[in-house]
Amino acid sequence: MAEPILEVHDLRVTFATEGGPVPAVDGIDFAVAPGETLAIVGESGSGKSVSSAAVMGLLPSNAEVRGEVLLDGRELVGLEADELRKIRGNDIALVFQDALSALNPYYSVGWQVAEAYRLHHDVSKKVAFRRAVEMLDKVGIPDAARRAKSYPHEFSGGMRQRVVIAMALVNNPRVLIADEPTTALDVTVQAQIMQLLADVQEEFGTALVLISHDLGVVAEVADDVLVMYAGRAAERGTVRDLFFRAAHPYSLGLLGAMPRIDVPPTRRLTTIPGSPPSPGSISAGCPFQPRCAYTERVGERCVTERPELTPRPGEGDHEAACHLGRRPEVVA
Ligand code: SF4
Repeated sequence: MAEPILEVHDLRVTFATEGGPVPAVDGIDFAVAPGETLAIVGESGSGKSVSSAAVMGLLPSNAEVRGEVLLDGRELVGLEADELRKIRGNDIALVFQDALSALNPYYSVGWQVAEAYRLHHDVSKKVAFRRAVEMLDKVGIPDAARRAKSYPHEFSGGMRQRVVIAMALVNNPRVLIADEPTTALDVTVQAQIMQLLADVQEEFGTALVLISHDLGVVAEVADDVLVMYAGRAAERGTVRDLFFRAAHPYSLGLLGAMPRIDVPPTRRLTTIPGSPPSPGSISAGCPFQPRCAYTERVGERCVTERPELTPRPGEGDHEAACHLGRRPEVVA
């Protein structure tokens, strides 16, 4: 990997609640270089969105964040709110899943993109609006000069997501975090939005952190993948490692549930039994143990000892957190 622009080391997020501290992210590491895409995948509650909010400094006040978040070598954890505001939206920006709630219904889309620009640039409203039109045009809003004066409700879901992307990109951020950016869209619009992100990345060399539960999208765009389960890293490697050498039973479960065109159509899709543990309810052993089809092969260790991420022999930077020595084959 080229020199990373964003590095996250041993990130831990704990929420203080009335019932006591609840750990949501428990020591994850990742890095992404300019022009590259890291996908963070997992089910709801795996900690992937909390991790991205922690990187952006967007967690509520009852969250305690520990570890390192380095943007171009500069530590973001513990930074004063003012300093963080200067970085957020400028060097590092976030595309939300739900464009409708990310946009203010009372202001035109052009005004909103222009204001995002003016937050970080001392320019007149006119100059900022011109920049907004340029960005709306770049993200594929037809007749951008005219449509910039329209309001969010006058746009389709796909067009609104383009506006949100224009807002995130207006300051040419070096890192873009896209949290399920296509979830609410239909399949053809999804493909257009992902293509747009790829084009932007190529043009500006933006590093992209894509939070997704959609392995089809991940296969298309990611260079590296971090699979999260119960706030921890289950597996980490290149996109090829995940799709051709998956080593963690949870990753295999996710892959088994995904329709693929590279396997015989007779293969049945499988599901992972049970549901993820709620944060704070994880016992001493492997967090995936209650749902794992391979526990019998390992025995007590799965219940008593938490597996750490361990390099896969002869597979470069590919790592998995599982006590199984051999790569598991698919259990039907
Ligand atoms: Fe399954 Fe045990 Fe591996 Fe956990 S450590 S994923 S329970 S085999």
